[in-house]
Amino acid sequence: MDLRGRSYIGWANGADGGKEFRAVNPATNAAVEPAYTSALPGEVDSAARLAAQAFTSYSKFSGKEKAVFLRVIAEGLEGIADALVVRVNLETGLLEARIRSEAARTVFQLRFFADLVEEGSWVRARLDRGDPARKPAPKPDLRSMWRPLGPVVVFGASNFPLAYSVAGGDTASAFAAGNPVIVKAHPAHPGTSELVGDVIRSAARECKLPEGVFSLLFDAGTEVGAALVRHPLVRAVGFTGSQRGGRALMDIAAARPEPIPVFAEMGSTNPVFLLPGALTARGELIAEGMHGSVTLGAGQFCTKPGLVFLPPTAEAKVFSQSLARRMAESQAPVMLTPQIRASYSGQVASRARQSSVTLTVEGKSAGSEPGVRGTPALFTTGGREFIAQPELSAEVFGPATLLVRCSRKEEMLEIARSLHGHLTASVHGTEEDLREYRELIEILEQKAGRLVFNGFPTGVEVGHAMVHGGPYPATSDGQSTSVGSQAIYRFARPVCFQNFPPEFLPEELKDGNPLGIWRLMDGALGRD
Ligand code: NAP
Repeated sequence: MDLRGRSYIGWANGADGGKEFRAVNPATNAAVEPAYTSALPGEVDSAARLAAQAFTSYSKFSGKEKAVFLRVIAEGLEGIADALVVRVNLETGLLEARIRSEAARTVFQLRFFADLVEEGSWVRARLDRGDPARKPAPKPDLRSMWRPLGPVVVFGASNFPLAYSVAGGDTASAFAAGNPVIVKAHPAHPGTSELVGDVIRSAARECKLPEGVFSLLFDAGTEVGAALVRHPLVRAVGFTGSQRGGRALMDIAAARPEPIPVFAEMGSTNPVFLLPGALTARGELIAEGMHGSVTLGAGQFCTKPGLVFLPPTAEAKVFSQSLARRMAESQAPVMLTPQIRASYSGQVASRARQSSVTLTVEGKSAGSEPGVRGTPALFTTGGREFIAQPELSAEVFGPATLLVRCSRKEEMLEIARSLHGHLTASVHGTEEDLREYRELIEILEQKAGRLVFNGFPTGVEVGHAMVHGGPYPATSDGQSTSVGSQAIYRFARPVCFQNFPPEFLPEELKDGNPLGIWRLMDGALGRD
């Protein structure tokens, strides 16, 4: 298709007049055509009004109907797979294999949510049958289930132009729950956003959904996103991106006369604890895996291990040397955008200036190679220095990590206690290590959404048990996950119907269980 460079306001395209911007090809530093026009304030309002109107009917769609919509989107994305490879590569520098695997994940995720809502038990139906004869007061008939919230605004991140963007997990889970979605496109990949947005809009028309179930707004800056979060008809926000961006949107939402939930999945430093037995048994393998995980995707993953804690052993020194050797041999990869590279280089330079931190080794510099490239970096500091400088916990988004040499076990535990929230925490150990460091695991359970044993945090499986979340500042709401089927609960809320005549109850709550879903009936789970 020909890219138009305009927002989608329901079925209509955006008007002229907004500020223009273009994506930049990070592999060449050249601007990418066409120009994209920022949405106008009136278009923000129209998108929100259309979404609120669409909600009145879309929220009543059955699980089967929503599943059809999600599957048509998935099929549409498969149909443009080759065009996506070309455009995503132009706008992000990501290579074909990565783009195809992210596209496959995006499509899988849409079908995963289609299956979930078609089966239907996700609504957590609960029925407590009434007893009018109960003394001293009659017991009411109570039936509850999870219902959609209303228009959801979705912000995608630059580093997942497909899986955490226009048709990513936030959009899929919000649609699955029964909500219209307004996406604020990420300015780093507008053409990719338009290609995917076109697939969603076509799917919505094909499935005869109400106009406004989907809109896609472009913006050169942050005004459109802020206006969407402020709009009184918007009911929730799904955000993936930096802590700075997520926090700004949380504050805007909290300052509204009627605050709304913001599910912000933000950056994380993903601490890894290497225990003595594991380093003795397989230090070299751990160094190899660590190097792969730190440099994967130019270190531009929210799950990149950015903090590595070491015990005071000779094997820890051998590990550090092996990792340093591997980092020194690493090429400078193309990063996603000039801004991300500038921010990465700035953070590396300022960390290198800190007297308590050593820049142990840098990778090969980009030299005259074209494109926006970041040189890998390995830093080292001591346990006491780390405790004294909480800013060393901050995410450095790019191919860098910090080794922290602990002087004894108690210092490692003290450090673990001092950590703020992260998406993941990993431990490499033997069973004997685990017995010896049982307290460490107990502490880490309070600090992260996912605990990884003898592995690396990069790579997030889409499944029913996945938790991709964690205490603040990893996310705005540590009770939620943005990946996996439980992500749907971010965009729904429980509603209880008390003493309702059967005719006026949702199908999920009717006597006889017409949908055959799992329900908690008087405290017992069943499907009868
Ligand atoms: P970003 O700069 O925060 O951008 C994300 C989106 O939010 C963009 O559309 C951006 O628009 C918008 N935005 C940012 N600040 C805003 C503000 N003050 N008001 C309104 N809108 C605002 O993040 P990014 O650089 O694309 O992504 C990299 C970050 O995402 C890293 O920190 C990474 O760890 C994190 N990430 C987290 C996850 C997760 O699941 N937790 C997954 C992937 C990435 P503008 O660009 O116009 O500002």
